[in-house]
Amino acid sequence: MAINNVTIIGAGTMGNGIAHIFAQSGYNVTLVDVSREALDKAVATITNNLARQVKKGTIIEADQSATIARIKTETQLAASVRTADFVVEAATERYDLKKEIFQTLDANAPEGVILATNTSSISVTELAATTKRASHVIGMHFFNPVPVMKLVEVIRGLATTDEVYATVKALSEQLGKTPVEVNDSPGFVSNRILMPMINEAIYCVMESVAKPEDIDTVMKLGMAHPMGPLALADFIGLDVCLAIMNVLHDGLGDTKYRACPLLKKMVAAGRLGKKSGEGFYKY
Ligand code: NAD
Repeated sequence: MAINNVTIIGAGTMGNGIAHIFAQSGYNVTLVDVSREALDKAVATITNNLARQVKKGTIIEADQSATIARIKTETQLAASVRTADFVVEAATERYDLKKEIFQTLDANAPEGVILATNTSSISVTELAATTKRASHVIGMHFFNPVPVMKLVEVIRGLATTDEVYATVKALSEQLGKTPVEVNDSPGFVSNRILMPMINEAIYCVMESVAKPEDIDTVMKLGMAHPMGPLALADFIGLDVCLAIMNVLHDGLGDTKYRACPLLKKMVAAGRLGKKSGEGFYKY
């Protein structure tokens, strides 16, 4: 099936970036959100980010207006997918919410249309099982900021067919990304490796092995990481880090994935990192 019309569900941090790259690659994009305010904000963000690309000389002004003209916004989920050729779901990370969205998508998207999810931690296999087209459900895990980051983890659910995987791989390449094939498993590859590293850095703080700035310096200068694990945790949000550690712990059943008590304590205190003004650093 030729892909021309792409529907993206959720116009937040990830949804606006995903809409940006699809529209810039020539697809007609319908961006859907329950919040009109989120949709307006997303279009403003995309416009600003394109303007920055024009300023840098990576695109010309005509590309900016053509890209914006290919994006329309919508608040009605069912109506938005009736003419879709491909769907990417990037709504809030809650299983009950995504389950409801996938059931609506399944009931309204044309037969054979692939339903992709950008979830960071929910099982693709489990989401697929809530639909009648499990073979056509797949994970397409982009990274923030989407227009800049090259990686897409393409997550195969248990029932995802080779043909569906090949379509999403080719599509990711067409968007200028590098897809990596990953089988559905808690945390996929990215968070399976990243989150225990962040959690271990938090144990080092809790056990007074070193101060947060010094732990970050070790990883930046010693391991050539662009950002230390604690600064990264603040950027991601400590609540998100805790939720992902819990997914790893529950899903893999190994005590090595237990969340650090200091991480739990900071989340309980509302010190969530950059978004709350304080985490391991003050903002
Ligand atoms: P966000 O909170 O910035 O945006 C989520 C958007 O979904 C909001 O605008 C909200 O109004 C909308 N929404 C909620 N319910 C909806 C519904 N029923 N229909 C349509 N829209 C609805 O969240 P985000 O950071 O963009 O994350 C979105 C998804 O991407 C999550 O699954 C998350 O795990 C994943 N993800 C996030 C990151 C990241 O760095 N933020 C990275 C990779 C993947």
